[in-house]
Amino acid sequence: MHEDKFESKNISVIKNVAVVIPCFNEAESIDELVRQLDSNFLVEDPQCIYSFLLVDDGSVDETWYKISKLSNNRNSRVYGLRLSRNFGHQKALLAGLEYALKSADFIITMDADLQHPIKAAKKMLLLAIYSEYNIVLGQRELDEYSSFFKKSTSKSFYKLMNYFGVDIVPNVSDFRVMDKASTEALIDHGDTTFFTRGIISLIGFSQFIYAYKVEKRFAGKSKYSTRKMIKFASEGITSLSISPLRLTFLASLAMFGICGLVLIYVIRSWISGNIVSGWSSIMLSIYILFGFNFLLIGILGEYIGKIYQQSLRRPRYIIQEVSLPSTN
Ligand code: UDP
Ligand code: MG
Repeated sequence: MHEDKFESKNISVIKNVAVVIPCFNEAESIDELVRQLDSNFLVEDPQCIYSFLLVDDGSVDETWYKISKLSNNRNSRVYGLRLSRNFGHQKALLAGLEYALKSADFIITMDADLQHPIKAAKKMLLLAIYSEYNIVLGQRELDEYSSFFKKSTSKSFYKLMNYFGVDIVPNVSDFRVMDKASTEALIDHGDTTFFTRGIISLIGFSQFIYAYKVEKRFAGKSKYSTRKMIKFASEGITSLSISPLRLTFLASLAMFGICGLVLIYVIRSWISGNIVSGWSSIMLSIYILFGFNFLLIGILGEYIGKIYQQSLRRPRYIIQEVSLPSTN
């Protein structure tokens, strides 16, 4: 589909469009990001009124200073939300979505590092406005810039998600356009672990997948450390699938079988009087059994932890400060 087809159509009502961007230590990218947003989403667009909502996710560099300065500029369209600490990308996204929903008809979400091309975002927006689709998901088609490690772990992640029965589109990150109704449905999910791309697969609506080419990170390094990536993957799986719990049941069945075999072996050795020579098999069984036990307890722990967190009903993010565009 091509966007020109839609540009020729007329829409009678002006749409409010918010671009929501979580930022964590992105001070080096903010100026260029806003410059590109300004030059692509024009003030004089007859069909849309744009606002850019930058969510500072507890940065420790000059990110908030830059955001508030830009939003205080004359005729600025930059809004800033400052979270009280680093809540993580997904919660920052949620904070932005909830705030944007107060006035937006369509919401674009993208990263601050310019890896998500703004031109692609515009095309996706046109699709969402003029076609029957409520949600347009950006799918990484070609990624020349991520490391081999990042690409292979990401591939395994999507495979694992599908294996555990989570219906998630591969290579779809948090680059998307959603209309008001689908965004409301998304944030209606009160999950403590707000794993956006997984919840999107649960809410339905008509979704279109738009392939795009990933750009190079404008400045700085990825803000997803290996630790954050593991946390993200584990939260993604355990917040959407209970299959790992079934795995514990299957594993215990397998263990039961192994124990039966060991029992037969022990009885045979006892009958033959050859008892001392079983040392290695005993050691092996102990290690295998303990290993499995720890794994199963670990999986149970993950879910119990989730139940615990959900029962506390703590806020998923805290807004410390808001910066609105200056009206002078
Ligand atoms: N981000 C965030 N909080 C975090 C980590 C990341 O708000 O704790 C933001 C980050 O500033 C960026 C987006 O989430 O706008 C995606 O992060 P990044 O580009 O570092 O991830 P990658 O593209 O390497 O997967
Ligand atoms: Mg990035």
